[in-house]
Amino acid sequence: MPGVYRSWKADRWFPSSKQCAQCDRLNHSLAPADREWTCTGCGTIHDRDDDAAANLRRGLLAERTTTST
Ligand SMILES: [Zn+2]
Repeated sequence: MPGVYRSWKADRWFPSSKQCAQCDRLNHSLAPADREWTCTGCGTIHDRDDDAAANLRRGLLAERTTTST
């Protein structure tokens, strides 16, 4: 079931919506209602969903790289 597989993956990278896709800094003060946030590390303004998706992609790529070596 693809949907189950995807949520399991997302779980392993759980802070993805709070993590800057540019510099990896975590935004601990991000509230569930926040749609946008500004990274305190690099100043990038993130759309929460876009950033989470970017981090998930990075996580999947990283996992593929580490398991293939
Ligand atoms: Zn950043």
